[in-house]
Amino acid sequence: MQKTADEVTVKQVHIKDDFWSEIQNRIINVVIPFQERVLNDEVEGVAKSHAIENFRIAAGIHTGEFYGMVFQDSDVAKWLEGVAYSLTVKPDAALEKRADEIIDIIEKAQQPDGYLNTYFTIKEPEHRWQNLQECHELYCAGHMMEAAVAYYQATGKDKLLHVMERMADHIISRFGEGKERGIPGHQEVEIGLMKLYRVTGKEKYKDMARFFLEERGKNPNYFYEEKQKRGWIHFGQYGMDPLDTKYAQVYKPIYEQDKAVGHAVRATYMYTAMADLAGEDNDEKLYQACKRLWNNIVNQRMYLTGGIGSTTDGEAFSEDYDLPNDMAYAETCASIAMVFFAKRMLNIEPDGIYADIMERELYNGTISGIQLDGKRYFYVNPLEVQPGISGKVFGYRHVLPERPGWYECACCPTNLVRLMTSLSAYAWSEGKDTIYSHLFMGQEADLGKAKIQVESQYPWEGKVVYHIEPKQNEFTVAIHIPGYIKQKEHHLKVTVNGESVCIACALRKGYLYLNQIWKDGDTVEITFDMPVREVFANSKVRDDEGCVALMRGPVVYCFEGVDNDGDVQSLRIPENVVAEAVLCEEGKLAGMMLLNVKGYRIHTSETLYSEERPTKEKETLTAIPYYAWANRGENQMRVWMHGLNEN
Ligand SMILES: [Zn+2]
Repeated sequence: MQKTADEVTVKQVHIKDDFWSEIQNRIINVVIPFQERVLNDEVEGVAKSHAIENFRIAAGIHTGEFYGMVFQDSDVAKWLEGVAYSLTVKPDAALEKRADEIIDIIEKAQQPDGYLNTYFTIKEPEHRWQNLQECHELYCAGHMMEAAVAYYQATGKDKLLHVMERMADHIISRFGEGKERGIPGHQEVEIGLMKLYRVTGKEKYKDMARFFLEERGKNPNYFYEEKQKRGWIHFGQYGMDPLDTKYAQVYKPIYEQDKAVGHAVRATYMYTAMADLAGEDNDEKLYQACKRLWNNIVNQRMYLTGGIGSTTDGEAFSEDYDLPNDMAYAETCASIAMVFFAKRMLNIEPDGIYADIMERELYNGTISGIQLDGKRYFYVNPLEVQPGISGKVFGYRHVLPERPGWYECACCPTNLVRLMTSLSAYAWSEGKDTIYSHLFMGQEADLGKAKIQVESQYPWEGKVVYHIEPKQNEFTVAIHIPGYIKQKEHHLKVTVNGESVCIACALRKGYLYLNQIWKDGDTVEITFDMPVREVFANSKVRDDEGCVALMRGPVVYCFEGVDNDGDVQSLRIPENVVAEAVLCEEGKLAGMMLLNVKGYRIHTSETLYSEERPTKEKETLTAIPYYAWANRGENQMRVWMHGLNEN
């Protein structure tokens, strides 16, 4: 196995896309400034952050107490990472100056031995590195490493990079072969170390990432030994259970793992790092483990929206096919992590199965986490909501019918910021002879072999045009064609300079390979129809039995009460549904394609049970993109709709 392609950095690509630029602008103009004010405790009525103040106190600039979660530092790191990417989208000298000032504070908060973590520096300095299972020191370090690399790539400034190299060196001095054992309770440092390795070229960072990954699942159980030795706990009355080896993905060594288990974000960050390492080291055995875990997620444990981690119990993966719609957890961060995982897999092997999932996550399960105006966020992303029960009744309390403004545990909003501002890094990778386009996204890309300008009407219309300005004569442009597009059904047509391309000849594993001697002004045009598609779940998914969901292009649709007389529970979708896409011209959903669906509403007896057969009545139903739900007040929502036999 040989890694096929490398990352393309955010600086090389500028997104100019009706769909994504709008989201990026909202993130940059609304969310980043809002989060900055939250992190500085300037917003009334949201959960207090204190995250930057913690750094000031640890730096000795202010006096005071630590406040917040043990991983509060990571909010600053993720915000900084997002700021770094945003500066490549829209330069902002004032914002950069404020970020520089925060980096100065972070540098001052670093201890003489390289250690950086405000919780332990301020609150429990005697307990450093004793509780890796619960206390997230390595997790926070990983996020700050990612921020440091992003800030360096975006601005050329290396102060934070050096801070995090010193922290990484401190970690290396402590953990590893012949030193202390240790594994992170919440995976993330492995991703940070891999990025640090790539930007510095220093193998020791990759080696440290490999150590942390390979230590998992070894005997004796590290977390058990650690808990025995330290004699103190951080969470709850008894602390986290070190014998819950699935929760922490230590049930087997990583090479033998075959089921995606435990905390979904931790797991998927780990798979991301595994795929990253497999690619860098041409580690076939590790890649095979990644593939097994990938297949288990996407074939047995993923919602149609891309949501993963279906149970609130441990924010975790459940069993195969256990995908309850109204009790879903499906944390926004977990969907974001799937984008990271997918991209690392694509760098190893450009296979449409990875790009399809990346697309599914981007258009559905990630952006459902943010309100359309950018001001409120979901942590949990259900596929069915019933006001009065959701968010209130035991078992459903985690499923909120509306997005809150901020969270005490603010992982998801900051994660969305860094993903949305770095979208361009997911659109491409570049190999020795081939440029890979993974996503249909309007943009200007300055790659090694060519400048490519893409015009796209995706996801609402099936037309994408690539304008190629080569820097060398011959190379291959490989364009991902989403897996749902069937050549005949969707009238898929590809032309190069107006000449039709034989799609069957050029298509391999979801990518269309166009090899030729390119010249300035060459144009590849891809057009296809976008009918509304009915989707059915495997009968093993109990909740979706007898149900149908609707998709158009990459977008999953849902039905909300506000468009359907307040009640979506009584709606029925007939077989071979007739649905028409209509551009929404006004209101909060303006610019989106909504669906008018020829369906039914059933009427039942008023009593709880009755022997009277329900009657049905024809009705035109309205479906909206899933990601846009809960923007118009509290109301019912469903993705999976009951079918109806018209006979
Ligand atoms: Zn989260």
